[in-house]
Amino acid sequence: MSCFNEEQIQYYLDNEYGVEKKGIIRHHLEHCPLCRKTLEYQRQRALELKQSLDLLVTEQADIPDFKPPVTSLSRRKISTQYILPLAVAASLLLIVLLRSFFLADKLPFDSQGVQFMVSGELDANKTITEYPLIITIVAPDGSISQKTIN
Ligand SMILES: [Zn+2]
Repeated sequence: MSCFNEEQIQYYLDNEYGVEKKGIIRHHLEHCPLCRKTLEYQRQRALELKQSLDLLVTEQADIPDFKPPVTSLSRRKISTQYILPLAVAASLLLIVLLRSFFLADKLPFDSQGVQFMVSGELDANKTITEYPLIITIVAPDGSISQKTIN
Protein backbone atom coordinates (compact mmCIF):
# COMPACT_ATOMS: atom_id res chain seq x y z
CA MET A 1 0.00 0.00 0.00
CA SER A 2 1.19 3.53 -0.81
CA CYS A 3 2.18 5.91 1.99
CA PHE A 4 -0.06 8.59 3.46
CA ASN A 5 0.74 12.25 3.04
CA GLU A 6 1.20 14.72 5.92
CA GLU A 7 -2.36 15.97 5.68
CA GLN A 8 -3.79 12.45 5.96
CA ILE A 9 -1.55 11.69 8.91
CA GLN A 10 -2.61 14.93 10.57
CA TYR A 11 -6.27 13.93 10.08
CA TYR A 12 -5.41 10.61 11.72
CA LEU A 13 -3.72 12.45 14.62
CA ASP A 14 -6.72 14.74 15.00
CA ASN A 15 -8.99 11.69 15.12
CA GLU A 16 -11.04 12.96 12.20
CA TYR A 17 -11.26 9.69 10.27
CA GLY A 18 -13.86 7.02 10.71
CA VAL A 19 -13.16 3.64 12.29
CA GLU A 20 -12.41 1.91 9.00
CA LYS A 21 -9.96 4.54 7.71
CA LYS A 22 -8.23 4.75 11.11
CA GLY A 23 -7.80 1.00 11.05
CA ILE A 24 -6.21 1.10 7.59
CA ILE A 25 -3.78 3.86 8.63
CA ARG A 26 -2.96 2.15 11.95
CA HIS A 27 -2.22 -1.08 10.09
CA HIS A 28 -0.03 0.80 7.61
CA LEU A 29 1.84 2.59 10.42
CA GLU A 30 2.69 -0.77 11.98
CA HIS A 31 4.58 -1.75 8.84
CA CYS A 32 5.90 1.59 7.47
CA PRO A 33 8.76 3.32 9.32
CA LEU A 34 8.54 6.32 7.01
CA CYS A 35 4.91 7.11 7.89
CA ARG A 36 5.65 6.40 11.59
CA LYS A 37 8.42 8.98 11.40
CA THR A 38 6.03 11.51 9.82
CA LEU A 39 3.46 10.76 12.51
CA GLU A 40 6.00 11.23 15.31
CA TYR A 41 7.25 14.46 13.76
CA GLN A 42 3.73 15.91 13.50
CA ARG A 43 2.82 14.74 16.98
CA GLN A 44 5.96 16.41 18.35
CA ARG A 45 5.21 19.61 16.43
CA ALA A 46 1.63 19.72 17.80
CA LEU A 47 2.98 19.22 21.32
CA GLU A 48 5.49 22.06 20.90
CA LEU A 49 2.75 24.31 19.55
CA LYS A 50 0.53 23.51 22.53
CA GLN A 51 3.39 24.23 24.96
CA SER A 52 4.20 27.56 23.33
CA LEU A 53 0.53 28.52 23.49
CA ASP A 54 0.48 27.61 27.16
CA LEU A 55 3.49 29.91 27.65
CA LEU A 56 1.51 32.80 26.22
CA VAL A 57 -1.01 32.46 29.01
CA THR A 58 1.08 33.66 31.93
CA GLU A 59 -1.61 33.89 34.58
CA GLN A 60 -5.24 33.02 34.82
CA ALA A 61 -7.64 35.93 34.87
CA ASP A 62 -9.36 36.38 38.22
CA ILE A 63 -13.05 36.02 37.45
CA PRO A 64 -15.25 36.75 40.47
CA ASP A 65 -18.21 34.51 41.27
CA PHE A 66 -21.45 35.53 39.65
CA LYS A 67 -23.87 37.19 42.02
CA PRO A 68 -27.32 38.08 40.73
CA PRO A 69 -27.94 41.83 41.00
CA VAL A 70 -30.02 42.83 44.00
CA THR A 71 -32.19 45.21 41.96
CA SER A 72 -33.77 42.36 39.99
CA LEU A 73 -35.05 40.82 43.23
CA SER A 74 -36.62 44.06 44.44
CA ARG A 75 -38.02 44.73 40.97
CA ARG A 76 -39.73 41.35 41.06
CA LYS A 77 -41.24 42.22 44.44
CA ILE A 78 -42.62 45.48 43.05
CA SER A 79 -44.13 43.78 40.03
CA THR A 80 -46.06 41.30 42.23
CA GLN A 81 -47.34 44.26 44.26
CA TYR A 82 -48.91 45.74 41.13
CA ILE A 83 -50.51 42.54 39.85
CA LEU A 84 -53.76 43.02 41.79
CA PRO A 85 -54.28 46.71 40.85
CA LEU A 86 -53.38 45.91 37.23
CA ALA A 87 -55.86 43.03 37.18
CA VAL A 88 -58.57 45.29 38.62
CA ALA A 89 -57.78 48.02 36.07
CA ALA A 90 -57.86 45.52 33.20
CA SER A 91 -61.21 44.14 34.42
CA LEU A 92 -62.71 47.63 34.68
CA LEU A 93 -61.48 48.47 31.18
CA LEU A 94 -63.02 45.24 29.87
CA ILE A 95 -66.33 46.03 31.60
CA VAL A 96 -66.38 49.56 30.15
CA LEU A 97 -65.60 48.27 26.67
CA LEU A 98 -68.23 45.52 26.86
CA ARG A 99 -70.81 47.93 28.28
CA SER A 100 -70.28 50.43 25.45
CA PHE A 101 -70.41 47.55 22.97
CA PHE A 102 -73.81 46.36 24.28
CA LEU A 103 -75.12 49.90 24.66
CA ALA A 104 -74.39 50.54 20.99
CA ASP A 105 -77.56 48.54 20.21
CA LYS A 106 -79.63 50.89 22.37
CA LEU A 107 -78.41 54.22 21.09
CA PRO A 108 -81.00 56.98 20.50
CA PHE A 109 -83.08 56.50 17.38
CA ASP A 110 -81.69 59.40 15.34
CA SER A 111 -78.12 58.28 15.66
CA GLN A 112 -78.92 54.71 14.66
CA GLY A 113 -78.99 55.12 10.89
CA VAL A 114 -79.31 58.57 9.44
CA GLN A 115 -78.21 59.23 5.91
CA PHE A 116 -78.02 62.64 4.32
CA MET A 117 -78.14 62.55 0.54
CA VAL A 118 -78.12 65.05 -2.27
CA SER A 119 -80.75 64.19 -4.88
CA GLY A 120 -80.32 64.50 -8.63
CA GLU A 121 -77.08 65.04 -10.50
CA LEU A 122 -74.37 67.14 -9.00
CA ASP A 123 -73.73 70.52 -10.57
CA ALA A 124 -70.39 72.01 -9.65
CA ASN A 125 -71.79 75.56 -10.04
CA LYS A 126 -74.46 75.03 -7.38
CA THR A 127 -73.77 75.24 -3.67
CA ILE A 128 -74.75 72.28 -1.52
CA THR A 129 -77.56 74.32 0.05
CA GLU A 130 -79.25 74.72 -3.35
CA TYR A 131 -79.97 70.99 -3.52
CA PRO A 132 -82.97 69.43 -1.85
CA LEU A 133 -81.85 67.46 1.18
CA ILE A 134 -83.19 63.92 1.56
CA ILE A 135 -82.89 62.45 5.04
CA THR A 136 -83.17 58.68 5.22
CA ILE A 137 -83.70 57.25 8.68
CA VAL A 138 -83.30 53.55 9.38
CA ALA A 139 -84.96 52.59 12.65
CA PRO A 140 -83.65 49.76 14.84
CA ASP A 141 -86.62 47.60 13.76
CA GLY A 142 -85.51 47.97 10.14
CA SER A 143 -88.21 50.38 8.97
CA ILE A 144 -87.01 53.12 6.64
CA SER A 145 -88.45 56.62 6.52
CA GLN A 146 -87.45 59.50 4.25
CA LYS A 147 -87.96 63.24 4.44
CA THR A 148 -87.04 65.72 1.75
CA ILE A 149 -86.14 69.29 2.67
CA ASN A 150 -85.99 71.89 -0.12
ZN1 LIG B 1 3.98 4.61 4.65
